[in-house]
Amino acid sequence: MLPTVSLFGMRIHAIDLSTAVNAVLAWCDAEDSTCRYVVTPNVDHVVMYQSRDDLRSAYEGAELVLADGAPVVLASRLLRRGLPERVAGSDLVPALFDRVASDNNFAQRPLRVFLLGAAPGVAERAAHRIHHQWNNVAVVGTYSPPLGFEHDANENSLILEKIAAVKPDLILIGLGAPKQELWTHRHANQLSGKAALCIGATIDFLAGEKARSPRWMQRVGLEWFHRLAREPARLAKRYFHDAWIFPQLVWQEWRGCLGK
Ligand code: UDP
Repeated sequence: MLPTVSLFGMRIHAIDLSTAVNAVLAWCDAEDSTCRYVVTPNVDHVVMYQSRDDLRSAYEGAELVLADGAPVVLASRLLRRGLPERVAGSDLVPALFDRVASDNNFAQRPLRVFLLGAAPGVAERAAHRIHHQWNNVAVVGTYSPPLGFEHDANENSLILEKIAAVKPDLILIGLGAPKQELWTHRHANQLSGKAALCIGATIDFLAGEKARSPRWMQRVGLEWFHRLAREPARLAKRYFHDAWIFPQLVWQEWRGCLGK
């Protein structure tokens, strides 16, 4: 059993990137037909989690909960429930591919990956770049579902059929939060894959469609600032709301610690 800490009502795995890679690759090798899934909480998830039962259920169903947000890791340390490091979905995916590319066992049987999400054409571009950059990783399917697909039973069946037709090891689900977590939780039992990762904009990053922040910004916990500067119209309201609520949640947790 991997260690966890309890933070903001969530159970978060207290593991580093390399341990997360090992866990996901072990699922890909498992004999059973379960599709285990990963969620990656950031500040916005933490805030939504407080008021959304559906998101809480999706988190409870996840096999791994990895802290994506630097402020979440910082808060864990302030609250003396230190997480070892940030494990962002957009770092986990290339780390998994790096491991697979350097592992000869995958030369015989490449890691089969399905990309679900991002705008039309983006996942295909990501697939092209993945094949170019990583040995032993085969993108066996991509699909960009239309807006509102989650409310359309036919669309949902179509997605499940597309995945079942190619039986991937790994499904990367980039539909934004909380849609990707809710969709994955609702369909986990019908997903013909071994592992599913809810990874936000990672398909865009892999395609070169969006740029990640420079390394130094990631290191000092400012990746959110870079995203805000790139997409102010979409993110400003959300970030200001979260910046108001999140410190209050940290304060409540702190007071909770004192009361124990
Ligand atoms: N997206 C999608 N279908 C949707 C909504 C979003 O494919 O119905 C994709 C979008 O194109 C982008 C990603 O989801 O690739 C959004 O990821 P991000 O982490 O930026 O979303 P957030 O969680 O910040 O809203």
